[in-house]
Amino acid sequence: MSKRVLVLGAGFGGLEATSILAEEFDGDLEIVLIDSTEGFVFGFSKLDVMFARTSADRVLHRYSDIAKPGVTFVRAEITAIDAVAKHVETTGGAFDGDFLVIALGADYDISGTPGLAEAGHEFYSEAGAFALRDILASFEGGDVVIGITSGPFKCPPAPSETALMLDAMLRDRGIRDSSTISLVMPFPRPIPPSPDASSALLATFEERDIAWHPDTSVRSLDADERVAHLGDGSTLPFDLYLGVPVHRVPAVIESAGLTVDGWIPVDSRTLETSWPDVYAVGDCAAVGTPRAGVFAERQAATAARRIAARVRGDSEDSLYDGRGVCYVEFGGDEIGIVEVAFFDGRPRGSFEGPSLDLAAQKHEFGVSRIRRWFDRDWAAAVAE
Ligand SMILES: Cc1cc2nc3c(=O)[nH]c(=O)nc-3n(C[C@H](O)[C@H](O)[C@H](O)COP(=O)(O)OP(=O)(O)OC[C@H]3O[C@@H](n4cnc5c(N)ncnc54)[C@H](O)[C@@H]3O)c2cc1C
Repeated sequence: MSKRVLVLGAGFGGLEATSILAEEFDGDLEIVLIDSTEGFVFGFSKLDVMFARTSADRVLHRYSDIAKPGVTFVRAEITAIDAVAKHVETTGGAFDGDFLVIALGADYDISGTPGLAEAGHEFYSEAGAFALRDILASFEGGDVVIGITSGPFKCPPAPSETALMLDAMLRDRGIRDSSTISLVMPFPRPIPPSPDASSALLATFEERDIAWHPDTSVRSLDADERVAHLGDGSTLPFDLYLGVPVHRVPAVIESAGLTVDGWIPVDSRTLETSWPDVYAVGDCAAVGTPRAGVFAERQAATAARRIAARVRGDSEDSLYDGRGVCYVEFGGDEIGIVEVAFFDGRPRGSFEGPSLDLAAQKHEFGVSRIRRWFDRDWAAAVAE
């Protein structure tokens, strides 16, 4: 009888694990992929929709399109996980597996930033980013604060990209002179492992008059006064607040008792949890790398290859290397590329760009994933 792998969550990690296992076994392994949503949206596509480069329907990749050998997609909310029994309960029924890959990502705690729901806008969820498209289109200029409340948060370059894309948008609309942009981040520099990328971003912030507030975070928003209170005791007035909400694991992971200090502990080289044949990858796991899709997919690839070896009775020699490549928007369609290695001594990052030419590489990154995960072509974000 063929073995069954339950893949929990169909984001970067779940889709990569599913694709690798389906290709490797060509129908001789049962893979049940479970997600509560209709389809996958890249994190960077949220910014593309928010800044009106494309539309919400063009960035949604429907799970109903997945037709891989051995794979069943179940659209359901996972309500309980038993890591010992490798049993999960969902709104679409219960499932038992021989292996679990937990790839449920990170959720947001909006109330973790007092005042955010009343006075600001988060731009990290699909709903939040998509709703901002109209809000930005009707913005008439004023003080904009882009703020983070606490780490870890997904895609550390994304708030810097947001500041630069906003700058470009306000310039295009002729309202940059009547606006200010402030960026508040709990890091000493925008991309800590890459001094070169950070220097390029800081120089661009200076050139474009974006106020950089390092080493502090936004604690709360005062909805009446319309000021953001920062951890260093200062305040920033805002007409428009764009926030990165506090991140946490989805509630089902917490109620399953899988966390230590808020995240699922794993062996960072094998992605194994302390339960046999149960792996955790991506944003929900404490791996020691940033929360980003490029890291989630490589972790998932390692977990999938180790599961494949276990199923075949081979030795499990695949190890995660902590490497990733990030594409950073500098505004005006210019892209910088940061390559980071986390497990070879101190984290190190190299930087290339920014330039218009590198946009083609970012485009190919998205297109290649959709080809691999959904077996179809995709014309990634293009200006409407
Ligand atoms: C604005 C923004 C820009 C970004 N840009 C980039 C970028 O350029 N490059 C990059 O590498 N990363 C980027 N990221 C980060 C990236 O999106 C995430 O780090 C990545 O998606 C994490 O992958 P994952 O598989 O761990 O989780 P996810 O991709 O979040 O997938 C988790 C899945 O689990 C499902 N799920 C959760 N709970 C349940 C449940 N109880 N039942 C059923 N299903 C459930 C969710 O619906 C989701 O589909 C960006 C993020 C943001 C917000």
